[in-house]
Parts: sequence; C-alpha cells; structure tokens
Amino acid sequence: MMLKNDISVVVPVYNEYENLPELYKRVKNTVSSITDKYQIIFVNDGSNDDSLSRILSFAENNPKVFYLDLSRNFGHQIAVTAGLEYCNADCTVIIDSDLQDPPELIFELYSKYREGFDVVYAKRKKREGDTFIKKFTAKLYYRLLKRWVSFEIPLDAGDYRLISNKVVSAVNQMPEQNKFLRAQIAWLGLKQAYVLFDREIRKHGKSGYSYGKMFRLAFDGITGFSDKPLLLVSRLGFVISIFSFLVIIYAIFAHYIFKQTITGWTSLIISAMFMGGIQLLSIGIIGEYISRINKNVQKRPLYILKDTNINDTYINS
Ligand code: UDP
Ligand code: MG
Repeated sequence: MMLKNDISVVVPVYNEYENLPELYKRVKNTVSSITDKYQIIFVNDGSNDDSLSRILSFAENNPKVFYLDLSRNFGHQIAVTAGLEYCNADCTVIIDSDLQDPPELIFELYSKYREGFDVVYAKRKKREGDTFIKKFTAKLYYRLLKRWVSFEIPLDAGDYRLISNKVVSAVNQMPEQNKFLRAQIAWLGLKQAYVLFDREIRKHGKSGYSYGKMFRLAFDGITGFSDKPLLLVSRLGFVISIFSFLVIIYAIFAHYIFKQTITGWTSLIISAMFMGGIQLLSIGIIGEYISRINKNVQKRPLYILKDTNINDTYINS
C-alpha cells in the first residue's frame, strides 16, 4: 500500500479548548518544516467543552487536518487507538494536547527515526507539575511491571512517541479491548530509541486522568502482560497451607502430650480475618483476569465514531 504522508500526528483531545490553538500552531509549524506531506488527526474523545468546534475550524482552514469525533468519552488509550486506525503515513507521532509534551521535540523524534528506529519514545528527565504521589506511584508501578513482564519496557516514558508504520500496523492487529499502548508497543520488540525531554506542566485545564482511570490503566497493564499475580496467589496459598499444617500438628501435640488446650478468642479471630482478607484479595485478582476475558469475548467495537472527515479508504490496517 502506498502511504500518503511522511508524518502523521495523532492528538487525543478531552476538554482541551484552551490548549488547542497553541498546540495546533506549534505542531503545524514543527511538522510543516520537516515535510509538506503531513497530516494531523485530532481525536475528540467526548469532550464536553467546545474543543470540537476548535478542531472543526482547524480542519476547515487546512486540508491536512483530520478529525475523529467519538460518540462519548472512551478514554485516552482508546482515543489514540482510534487515531492509529485511521492514520496514513510512514511514521506517526502520538502527542498529548495539553502541551505537556513539547511539539518541537518532534524534530528530534523524527531525526532519530530516520536513523532507522521503529519506535522513538520521549523519555522524561523530570516531570513538572505532577504531584509527588503521582510521580512516586508511577515510578513504583513501572519498576514492578518491568520485573513482571518478559520483554523490555522503557521506564519514565509516557505515550509521547514516534512510531513507524510497521508498528502502527502491528498495533492495529492487536485485538485486546483493554489497551495499554506503551506496553503493546514494547511487546513488539522492534528497534527502539529515545530522546530526553523535560515534561512541562499542563497549560490550561485539569488532567482528564482521574485516579480511577489511572488504576484501571495500571491493572490493564499487569493483567494484559503478566500472569505473575496469579502465580503469587497460588504460592501464597501453598505457603499458608504448610504453615497451617504445622499449627495443626502443634495444637495436637499441645493437647495430647503437654495436656494444655490452646484457648483464645484473639487467636481465632485474627486467623479468621487474616484468611478472609487473603481470600478476598485472591478472588479480586482472579476477578481482574476474568473481567478481562469477559470484555474480550464480548468483542464490542472499541469506540463509536460520531463523525469524521476521513475517507474510509484511508484506514490503515
Ligand atoms: N485524554 C483523552 N481522554 C481521556 C483523558 C485524557 O483523550 O479520557 C487526552 C487529553 O486531552 C490529553 C491526553 O489524553 O491530550 C493526556 O491526558 P491528561 O493530560 O489528562 O493526562 P496526564 O497528563 O494528567 O496523565
Ligand atoms: Mg497531561
């Protein structure tokens, strides 16, 4: 298939009315100075502000601007996935629309790509504006994930990156419903490089990633790429079984040999609650995997498109 552009830029948008003009200007200036053959795809992820009208006006004035308007808020990962399904270029940049990812970095991402890498990700030197808790939990989580998966996951990298068309096609073939793009891309194992940058603070508005959405993403990352929690749970069961067997033997000895029956409400209630807690936790972990299976057997479409100016023949798959 002949690809129509040199560069495509996919921009997920959720309530970014105030950020869009500057973002669009800076992205356009950067990519248009690299090549004339570019496209910018805005994915409006059910914004409830006026983001869409801004996007429509960019598209009206520039035939290289495209948009996908999703029927409601499906979440950042799905918005980007939608953009990847419609982009048509040798390489694609994924960039946030809140100006935390400086658009001018596309120069460096692109020149690394021209050296022959399939994935060039932007690695954060420092994260301005994120709370201590967010930075700390993110660090902890990625170190854990890295230990639990069998492929290389880049640390301190978000979704800001440039990927070759090879990567785009491969990601488009991944049918999972719970998307976790940075791990999906790492899973491919293609040639990766990074450039360093300072992540800025969000210009206007507030983060669309609630703690709920963040936890969801974190669980999806683990259940999608590792069976380790299941293994840990069954090991824990094994250890507790051995331990309780020893306690039983001790109790029998105490009763028949030492003639002293162990009494106590405290020990009973503690062990009952301890076991109850462990069991609930284990069921919860199994539940996470089952819910993933459930979502994937339903095979619902990932998102519903309300409107777009992209011709169907553009779809890259
Ligand atoms: N976003 C989206 N759908 C959502 C939440 C966020 O498309 O449900 C977009 C948002 O407009 C931004 C990017 O995804 O371009 C990253 O979101 P955000 O800045 O809220 O996340 P954070 O930087 O706080 O992790
Ligand atoms: Mg942000």
